[in-house]
Amino acid sequence: MPEAAIDLRSDTVTRPDDAMRAAMAAAEVGDDQFAEDPTINALQERIAGLLGKEAALWMPTGTMANQAALRLLTQPGDDVIVSRQSHAVWHEAGASAANAGVQFTEIGAGGVFTADEFVAACKPRGHVVYPPTTLVEIENTHNRAGGVVFPQAEIIRICDEARARGVATYLDGARLWNAAVASGSTPADLAAPFDLVSVAFSKGLGAPGGSCFAGSRELIARAVRARRMLGGAMRQVGIFAAAALHAIDHNMGKLAEDHANAKRMAEILVEHPRIVLDPAAVRTNILIFAIAPDGPDAPTMVAKAGEQRVLIFAFGPKTIRAVTHLDVSQNQCERAAGVLRSIADA
Ligand SMILES: *Cc1c(COP(=O)(O)O)cnc(C)c1O
Repeated sequence: MPEAAIDLRSDTVTRPDDAMRAAMAAAEVGDDQFAEDPTINALQERIAGLLGKEAALWMPTGTMANQAALRLLTQPGDDVIVSRQSHAVWHEAGASAANAGVQFTEIGAGGVFTADEFVAACKPRGHVVYPPTTLVEIENTHNRAGGVVFPQAEIIRICDEARARGVATYLDGARLWNAAVASGSTPADLAAPFDLVSVAFSKGLGAPGGSCFAGSRELIARAVRARRMLGGAMRQVGIFAAAALHAIDHNMGKLAEDHANAKRMAEILVEHPRIVLDPAAVRTNILIFAIAPDGPDAPTMVAKAGEQRVLIFAFGPKTIRAVTHLDVSQNQCERAAGVLRSIADA
């Protein structure tokens, strides 16, 4: 039998294990558009509690949550301030322009920005030429910057400045669980400064799908319509909610292992002169490294690694992303790092 691939392309590649599937099979369900799915209702209460908000709403995907957030908190023609290389700008197929008609202003560096940078980029309402900034969106952890945890003290300052200007605040927390584990904070503490928050169950937690909004009762009530307008209102989705509840109970505690495995890979990779990264910057489950000019380009490295059953992702011409998750062990991560080093030799 050929050895199974070590799949580090994303933390979305996990498959539900037997226990998760059993929880899904046993889920009580109902029509969620009548708010009659008991497992969805239980999940929403659980998430509202975990994030310290009044209410929560299940969403089919994180992308749809981000799109619905724009519909809830902006008007067409508005300006939305985000970090550079944010998911909203790079990974949503241009949806924000098409669905919400907003423009993005990308600021900062390395996935984060300061309150001063936010204030400098913020455009006032009622100006004859400026597009009004009505929303600031923060991604925590930040995917394309390498699983970066946004400093919470700066988030508090940014959200204070936003509130003082009547600018809404939204947290794209697809990997908020990772940020909480890495920073030793609770998800509720990290969510506290924001009007609206989304979290995902299908990344590090290992569920097959689903995200969730949390916010004020008033905002979540409006989100029900925004979800319907995007075609995301579903029926017996308690099957997904059961997977999410199972993941919260059983997989949340394993995120720290993913972080340790990413760090271990970074320590092995950095020993190679053609691999450029800072292991100290690897705090969660995403590892991004550059290949030195005299090394292979990223597509070549991806192809050669694939031949040795190590799957990774080219993020740029000379940039690679590897993501650790539930379905890769420490041993597999170490083997994968060894394979990548041997390819960098060539
Ligand atoms: C994955 C991801 C999303 C979108 O989630 P999907 O469920 O894949 O649509 C949004 N934001 C960030 C930061 C993500 O990593």
